[in-house]
Amino acid sequence: MRSLLTYFLLIVFCFSSISAHSSLIKGNNKHKNTQDVVIKTEKVAGSVYVLFGQGGNIGVSAGKDGILIIDDQFINLADKIKSALKDLGSDTPRFVFNTHWHGDHTGGNPIFGQNSIIIAQENVRKRLSTDSTRRGQQIKALPPVGLPMITYGQGLSIHFNGEEIRAVHFPNGHTDGDTIIFFTGSNVVHLGDDFFAGKFPFVDLESGGSVSGLIQNIDALTKQIPADAKLIPGHGAVSNLNDLKTYHQTLVETTGIVRKQMDNKKSLDEIKKTGLPAKYKDWGTGFIKTDAWIETIYKSYSLNMKK
Ligand SMILES: [Zn+2]
Repeated sequence: MRSLLTYFLLIVFCFSSISAHSSLIKGNNKHKNTQDVVIKTEKVAGSVYVLFGQGGNIGVSAGKDGILIIDDQFINLADKIKSALKDLGSDTPRFVFNTHWHGDHTGGNPIFGQNSIIIAQENVRKRLSTDSTRRGQQIKALPPVGLPMITYGQGLSIHFNGEEIRAVHFPNGHTDGDTIIFFTGSNVVHLGDDFFAGKFPFVDLESGGSVSGLIQNIDALTKQIPADAKLIPGHGAVSNLNDLKTYHQTLVETTGIVRKQMDNKKSLDEIKKTGLPAKYKDWGTGFIKTDAWIETIYKSYSLNMKK
């Protein structure tokens, strides 16, 4: 089981680009301790596996057609990820999907892009190919070899290892480039960072994410995902449809609580002081603490009062 510190390090990079939450970031530890990271492989179902390391969970399709992966964590972990993939058949994936642009999901692209075809929604390529600055912190564009070679607007399918692997873009949730990947035969769904298992989510308002968009997307997903499917979240343990429904319910309820106070003209500080009911305490024990979640909701709905 990963320690809390590891969990913190694992997702810190994801948040390090975001000024809305930068006050919560305790230093840029993105590459610290990567030598201690152990990549753990777990079978999910059918041809699908998940690799846990440091950063977003890596989905893997392994079989007669070779290896396809979803996200690739950090560049310093590429060798360890390759060695874990070798145990599943080959250290060279034929395809790499990026669920979104954050560095804890795309950091390995410059290595994997040398021999694999990287695929992502078009906004992911746009963001990865541009330098950006957030609160004085420079985020460098990836070199061309690390950029998605194939992009799409709405989605695409790859027919691989005996099943259709369907990538579907869900707009403006965690970011503006999110993709959900459905392994239609293995009955597994990789939800990227639209799903933080059992924790309040990070919503990247500066990259086109929104709380209302995320709630809509999760609502739609709870209606399309089969009841017995296995779900790979962006961060956290392999989950099921009931876990996703609980997550959706929690997002709806906590957002409703905050918005009601916004309607009553309460300030952000006042709403934070009131906090959320005790039943949500555990949801605020991940990277996004209760205060940060309240702030995200407040800012997201202040930015777009119509939603
Ligand atoms: Zn992310």
